[in-house]
Amino acid sequence: MSTHRRGAFIVIEGLDRAGKSTQHARLCQNLENHGHRVKRMKFPDRTTPIGKSIDAYLKGESQQEDHVIHLLFSANRWETAASIRTAIEEGTTVVIDRYYCSGIVYSAAKGRDDLSLKWAREPEVGLPRPDLCLFLDITPEAAAKRGGFGNEKYETSAMQKRVRELFYELMQLPDGQEIKVIDAGRGIEDVERDIMERVMRVMAQTKMTEGLESILPW
Ligand code: ADP
Ligand code: MG
Repeated sequence: MSTHRRGAFIVIEGLDRAGKSTQHARLCQNLENHGHRVKRMKFPDRTTPIGKSIDAYLKGESQQEDHVIHLLFSANRWETAASIRTAIEEGTTVVIDRYYCSGIVYSAAKGRDDLSLKWAREPEVGLPRPDLCLFLDITPEAAAKRGGFGNEKYETSAMQKRVRELFYELMQLPDGQEIKVIDAGRGIEDVERDIMERVMRVMAQTKMTEGLESILPW
């Protein structure tokens, strides 16, 4: 009897320069080497019309009200929600470089009373929920040593410090269940091995014969 197995849904999160893109590429390659079909994704997806507005904002070429840009980031994820579900259903493993955790904490890190973690999470409710979210943890100081920050909007040390605190706050809430902290301050190969081990463990135990869950309201 053959049972249909869906793909796994894996997210890589963390501060700027934590090594997300490096590890995303390695994880995808490693999974393919193990014979898995993989769909690589990244947020923000700067190629769509909404993504182009986000790109201009991040580069400082345009201004956006804080709630507006938050909703655009969320809309940029919703644009692809159906394609994530389809890929997973077809047995492809989806691996994303940043997802809604970044969306929530970067907006909440702005420190506005009218833009709380709870407010920022609302537009994400209903999106496909990952089986595993790897939080690549690094101190802002260690991250800055990796070539220093670039010129984009959120790449300041005060912002990174607050973002890290809020990631830890989010982990204490129900969303923290699927978040696993990875010490990203080590060498690339050590981090890669740790990630692969956790991913293989989740892929072995996840209820791959059941559908993907959604992000639930608090
Ligand atoms: P992110 O996507 O999280 O911003 P990147 O993967 O682009 O981070 O990595 C940022 C920089 O740090 C790159 O120059 C990369 O080669 C380097 N880097 C990535 N991982 C490590 C590591 N474990 N140790 C040292 N340098 C790293
Ligand atoms: Mg990156």
